[in-house]
Amino acid sequence: MPKIIIDNVSKSYEPNIHALSRVSLTIKDAETVALMGPSGCGKTTLLRLIAGLELPDEGKITIDGESVDIKTNQTPMASMLFQKSTLYPHLSVYKNIALPLTTIRPKLTKEDIAKRVNAIAKLTDVTHLLKRKPNELSLGERRRSEIATALVQNRPILLIDELSNALDAKARTALRSLIKNIIKKNKITTIIVTHDLVEARALAKRIIKMENGRIKSGNR
Ligand code: ADP
Ligand code: MG
Repeated sequence: MPKIIIDNVSKSYEPNIHALSRVSLTIKDAETVALMGPSGCGKTTLLRLIAGLELPDEGKITIDGESVDIKTNQTPMASMLFQKSTLYPHLSVYKNIALPLTTIRPKLTKEDIAKRVNAIAKLTDVTHLLKRKPNELSLGERRRSEIATALVQNRPILLIDELSNALDAKARTALRSLIKNIIKKNKITTIIVTHDLVEARALAKRIIKMENGRIKSGNR
């Protein structure tokens, strides 16, 4: 299981937009941390860099000693649950969950894909929704389906950019305990961005606060 080391990482989008300034942070194997801070402080940027979707301008991110690099990283270690929905509207929930598996090499058989989709659907409580299209789902059902598309890749790191922002209180609580059970049972190293202190405390032992592209507290 992986340990993430973020070492002196800076990232700017334009000369005057410093999304991250000299961020250093170590996340232990199988640890769950919550990342909090005002809008624009660099939370999403940090997740995107750990996922290898972008490269830092300076500094280095390593996972289990290996550098995260979009050019060389053929099989990323992290899957990311994006803030906005990533479900394809014209595909059923089943096909949305199966999609990330179709790029795996050597190719999986149809039966292997079905096995993995069904197992992950059970875990995320979407089995009864597999034939539906995303526009036939409630917000909570949609988020669970998105979680399934992230988890089906079986990667040891999960990056969550807001778990349950748009949901009502009841659906939020349900989603929280679902995700908590999954990451605990599977010992997934998890970073969860949230605005909600209750959610942060419910899911993580350590809360990291960011401000203006820097870590303000929670580091050690
Ligand atoms: P947060 O997720 O904490 O709200 P972000 O990481 O999205 O913050 O953004 C940090 C800063 O970088 C903000 O000032 C934002 O406007 C800027 N930024 C993020 N992505 C881009 C981009 N692709 N192009 C230009 N500026 C960006
Ligand atoms: Mg963000």
